[in-house]
Amino acid sequence: MEVDFIIIGQGIAGTMLSYQLLQNNFSCIVIDESRPFTASKVASGVINPITGRRFVKTWMIDDVMPIAKQQYQALENFLQIAIFQETKVIDFHPTLQMQQAFNKRLIKEKDYITDEISSSTYQEYFNFHYGLGKIAPCYLIDINKLLSAWKKYLIEHNILIEEIFNEADLVLEDNQVFYKNIKAKKIIYCNGVNAVQSKWFKQLPFALNKGEVLFIKIPNLPTNNIYKNSFSLIHWKDDIFWLGSSYEWNFNDELPSEEFKSKAIKALDQWLKIPYSIIDHVASIRPTNTERRPFIGFLPQQPQIGILNGLGTKGCSLAPYFANEWIQNMLHQTPIQKEANVNRF
Ligand SMILES: Cc1cc2nc3c(=O)[nH]c(=O)nc-3n(C[C@H](O)[C@H](O)[C@H](O)COP(=O)(O)OP(=O)(O)OC[C@H]3O[C@@H](n4cnc5c(N)ncnc54)[C@H](O)[C@@H]3O)c2cc1C
Repeated sequence: MEVDFIIIGQGIAGTMLSYQLLQNNFSCIVIDESRPFTASKVASGVINPITGRRFVKTWMIDDVMPIAKQQYQALENFLQIAIFQETKVIDFHPTLQMQQAFNKRLIKEKDYITDEISSSTYQEYFNFHYGLGKIAPCYLIDINKLLSAWKKYLIEHNILIEEIFNEADLVLEDNQVFYKNIKAKKIIYCNGVNAVQSKWFKQLPFALNKGEVLFIKIPNLPTNNIYKNSFSLIHWKDDIFWLGSSYEWNFNDELPSEEFKSKAIKALDQWLKIPYSIIDHVASIRPTNTERRPFIGFLPQQPQIGILNGLGTKGCSLAPYFANEWIQNMLHQTPIQKEANVNRF
């Protein structure tokens, strides 16, 4: 088999990259081991323009949101699925300090935040003491539906190999690579946290972060908002909500912990007024790094090898944008953002 690209991994990075490569008439083969609790499968799928304790715009969000919307809507049409939703975050300020921090940003971030929101609508469902704010527009992507539908498309077109990629079997030659019976011009790693095990990426400052999530059944809670205080409640499907998440820098394993569960339940008991039940508890590791910027491009010393990774806490917004930017670079030699280009290492 001969292709332009071998892509390792079909998380959100490998999905967006393989989709956009095929759209631009490149050929590829994707190798994915189909692990159950990858970062992309556990993610809530939110694109929120305003984050952090100081309520500032996230990096490049004005550029990233339009491309994300365009790419997810194009995928909706292409795969005939509904995965993209425009929504809002109802921010229940958890403390007086957070309320003040929000109010301080009302003018500066007026394109995205407002305090014009009726409290009475939410008093039926939640306890809160420091007022509400609204962040909009936000996007919510049904990543699991997207990953499954894209996987099905790849299988139907013989573009997916469901197995573990073993780097020891990769052979590099000038301007080409060989992997088992596949010959390709390039190989691109979209393998999330597993990139830390690769011999090619030892220089990249990965600093992985664990996140845990509870799935909660809450009959009667309106599903058209994202609710946030110290945790976020995000509609998942039917009357099930995603409750998360933790950001753990020191961890011994990638398993769900009792510590997170009891903390989340305690917070939910204080916040939510209506009955709920716990359905599931999962965890995964984010491909975060000390620079909080992605790693994109071919390696200067080994140009047959590329990477789209380091998407950290923001894979849903960054993957469509940087897959597009990289492909434009391949086609028209337009630059890849300096802060994201892997050639900075
Ligand atoms: C709890 C939690 C909540 C999150 N919420 C959000 C959110 O709301 N919005 C947002 O934008 N981001 C969110 N994130 C971050 C987001 O999940 C990541 O940025 C993103 O999923 C990274 O995608 P990826 O494709 O790089 O990696 P992954 O999703 O890890 O995908 C890598 C793929 O490579 C495959 N793979 C790895 N090694 C091999 C191998 N040797 N052989 C074959 N296949 C292999 C894996 O099976 C996997 O399918 C969240 C993360 C977590 C953990």
